[in-house]
Amino acid sequence: MAQVTPRSGHFGQLVIIGGSIGGSSLAGAVAAWFDRVVIVERDSFEDRPAKRKGVPHAYHFHTLTPLGLRVLEDIFPLLTKEMRELGAPFVDPIKMVRQGTKAGFLPRRDSELRLLRATRPLLEWYLHKRTSAVPNVEYRTGLEAVGLIEESGRIVGVRTRDPRDAISAVPADFVVDASGRGSRAPRWLAELGYPAPEETVVNAHWGYATTYVKVPSEWEPGDYGSISVAPKVDKGAGPAASRGASLWRNENDLVVVTAQGNRRDYPPRDLEGMMEFVSSFGYDEFRGVLEAFQAVSPVEIWRSTANRRRKFSAVPRHLEGFAAMGDSVAAMNPVYGHGMTLAFVAAQKFREAVVAHIASGGTGVLGLGQRFQQSLEPTIDAAWALSTASDFRVPGVEVNGKPYTYEPTEQSEYMDRVLALATEDADLALKYMETALLMRGPEWSRDEDLRAKVKADWDRLGSVAREP
Ligand SMILES: Cc1cc2nc3c(=O)[nH]c(=O)nc-3n(C[C@H](O)[C@H](O)[C@H](O)COP(=O)(O)OP(=O)(O)OC[C@H]3O[C@@H](n4cnc5c(N)ncnc54)[C@H](O)[C@@H]3O)c2cc1C
Repeated sequence: MAQVTPRSGHFGQLVIIGGSIGGSSLAGAVAAWFDRVVIVERDSFEDRPAKRKGVPHAYHFHTLTPLGLRVLEDIFPLLTKEMRELGAPFVDPIKMVRQGTKAGFLPRRDSELRLLRATRPLLEWYLHKRTSAVPNVEYRTGLEAVGLIEESGRIVGVRTRDPRDAISAVPADFVVDASGRGSRAPRWLAELGYPAPEETVVNAHWGYATTYVKVPSEWEPGDYGSISVAPKVDKGAGPAASRGASLWRNENDLVVVTAQGNRRDYPPRDLEGMMEFVSSFGYDEFRGVLEAFQAVSPVEIWRSTANRRRKFSAVPRHLEGFAAMGDSVAAMNPVYGHGMTLAFVAAQKFREAVVAHIASGGTGVLGLGQRFQQSLEPTIDAAWALSTASDFRVPGVEVNGKPYTYEPTEQSEYMDRVLALATEDADLALKYMETALLMRGPEWSRDEDLRAKVKADWDRLGSVAREP
């Protein structure tokens, strides 16, 4: 492949719809290849990490997988250093997180994996600050995208509305939709006569309640840095089957406490109710922290948690010069913590698609959108398989609005036993977590020795469940 170096002028003007983590990371990744990058964002930004209307979910517990961190560091090489200077803890998740699975707690050990524990507003503020410093990137805030403009099968702009309801157009050679879970891109495509992507929704009706406490700087919850207990789902009964919680230290000695419940067993919005919820499934740690320290912000709840996937890569007729990324393409159930990683992987993949496109003689943007869209699918497949395999087991789960009945398969029975064995074997636990954190595929679980070990202990492993 020919050597390709970035130079503006390859592709003219890129317009990104949505200036959150996905849009900002994309602009940071590809600005060098475009004359100009315009980010159309309906919100405005403060010059400090802050809540904003367009991303209400940012208040809740956000963890970035080591894959997400690695990809982001590729785009913003100073990220970890600068975020640590801003106070974000940088920890080994295998050693420092007490991870309660439905089969039991995973053994902890040293690992090479690292997590950056920043709040989502801090991470987003950092990406915005870094990207807005790039000379050919412009954020146009207070501007809402309301449609796409097409000419002869190619995108030529984005229709926008300002706060006074005035409609205008932002010209574009390429448009990426990064407007999140509520994206209207399928409707905009349909308005232009293009097929909307096929959509699949798997909803196990999870809900969140989140608050933050401030702890003394020397405080640690134990010999671990955080604790996360998942619902036992099919391995338990009563509150333990549907309820879980996590607590986790972020920057500025803030500890986030999040309660999670599935099958519509939603955690309540008030602190007293949240305390009852988090102490109802057998652990004192969560309530203990909420009682010992002052909550510095209110309890907020969140219930839009379905896995929603749109197959933009498979539409029978593609609008040239248009693509989608982040939650607009695959909004995952947040409890598995993959959404931001998919957005950052998309930014990196777009850059790779640009390089490959130029190297293969591609001129202009023809074919670039499809090349990019298809390159996203393997990572989405991996995250989708993990999230849905878990959510399919939750009673009351729905697929595209219809009840879904879970039938165990040989593979699912086997993987349950691998997890049970992982609670007794630190090496296996590491592999299990590396897969859950998207650092490796599940190939290791097909190893013949492991298979033989599980088969030899089938009945016992099948009955292993976390206590209580
Ligand atoms: C409760 C909860 C907890 C989560 N926890 C985690 C976690 O632990 N780890 C993890 O990796 N992920 C987590 N996620 C997922 C993560 O938040 C998303 O994957 C991520 O925000 C996707 O980024 P995005 O840039 O695609 O979209 P968003 O962050 O949703 O941003 C969309 C942007 O587009 C703007 N916008 C929308 N429409 C328009 C328009 N028409 N015109 C102009 N601008 C527009 C919005 O204002 C916003 O700025 C969680 C999600 C939720 C709901």
